[in-house]
Amino acid sequence: MLSLPKNFETFNEARQKSFMALYQAKERGKKIIGTFCSYTPVEIIHAAGAIPVGLCGKSEQGIAEAEAILPKTICPLIKASYGMAITDQCPYFYFSDGILAETTCDGKKKMYELMGKIKPVHVMNLPQSKDQALAIDAWTEEVKRAAKFLEDLLHVSITPEKLHDAIVYRNRLRRAIVDLYEVAKIKPSPVSGYELSTVAESADFHFTDDDLIAKIEKTTRDFKARTRNDGANRPRVLITGCPNAGVRDKIIKRLEELGADYVCADTCSGPRVQKFMIDENADPYRAIAERYLKINCSVMTPNEARFDDIKDLVKEYQVDGVIEIVLHGCHTFAVEAYTTMNIIQNELSMPYMRLDTDFSQSDGGQIETRLGAFIEMMIAA
Ligand code: SF4
Ligand code: SF4
Repeated sequence: MLSLPKNFETFNEARQKSFMALYQAKERGKKIIGTFCSYTPVEIIHAAGAIPVGLCGKSEQGIAEAEAILPKTICPLIKASYGMAITDQCPYFYFSDGILAETTCDGKKKMYELMGKIKPVHVMNLPQSKDQALAIDAWTEEVKRAAKFLEDLLHVSITPEKLHDAIVYRNRLRRAIVDLYEVAKIKPSPVSGYELSTVAESADFHFTDDDLIAKIEKTTRDFKARTRNDGANRPRVLITGCPNAGVRDKIIKRLEELGADYVCADTCSGPRVQKFMIDENADPYRAIAERYLKINCSVMTPNEARFDDIKDLVKEYQVDGVIEIVLHGCHTFAVEAYTTMNIIQNELSMPYMRLDTDFSQSDGGQIETRLGAFIEMMIAA
């Protein structure tokens, strides 16, 4: 019989529900593998018969406890992820049988060393440049090595057939999520970006739903059927930079309350990453490696494709301004922000604003003032 964490009774209803859904899956014999990054090839987790769950911390919870061990100056996402793990506040971490991780930024890869003392952690060596001669060969080998880790950990065999089924399933899921995001291409968008991103991200947490894809497709149809009369004069905003789930209420919700529409994310959870499909007819390991190596994260150097993507998204979503979110301690996105600013302001002649922040609420007032001024700037442009 599985046990619940000691502090289970102190969790709110939603958290208790998440715990119980996973608890029941585990009772049915399902294995859970935690992930932290868009580079993690979830297809091999499905093919191993396990459920992949995203574990990134998205709030202040656990940060104080993490800061007793990790430096205060590293990114809040890393501190929250580790803090949630060591305090048993994350249902997904608590029930995970192992963690599939990757060498992206320095803070994360060093944090994984500590996390490995709590759970089995396998770290994949991600090439630092997708353009280097042997990057794809090395990454293909890393995908195979990760599959072997899962086979050994879970005592299963990952067959080519299971891998193919997983690829087909995840491609279908990604297409459904991209279609959902593309609702916001309609001008004015019939749905708030805050609502849309919340629905898209919730797909990560409905891992026990057999009909997840059908549910997303239905939500897309429902959103498209909505009409909206108040959107004509609202500026349309693209948000780029670090993953923004941990600051969604403070920035995105407030932006929309103040009078702009958040229509597109050039972030890990947005179409930037979801649009890449896996070739279903090629060698599966190579095809998986090729798909994931296309991701334009700032941990890659150089990362020119990200800037080309931003320019495309600005056009496709008819954007009026760009906000870049840089989490404190994220050096790679902070450095790339200079290039983004130049492209948006000088090449596209469009308003750009950079917000440096973390998961605390202490800068909420200052952010609100800057968002208000930015909306006025977009209206005047
Ligand atoms: S921003 Fe980069 S490192 Fe962070 S989750 Fe996305 S791909 Fe991974
Ligand atoms: S936001 Fe930046 S520092 Fe934080 S985990 Fe992602 S890449 Fe690393």
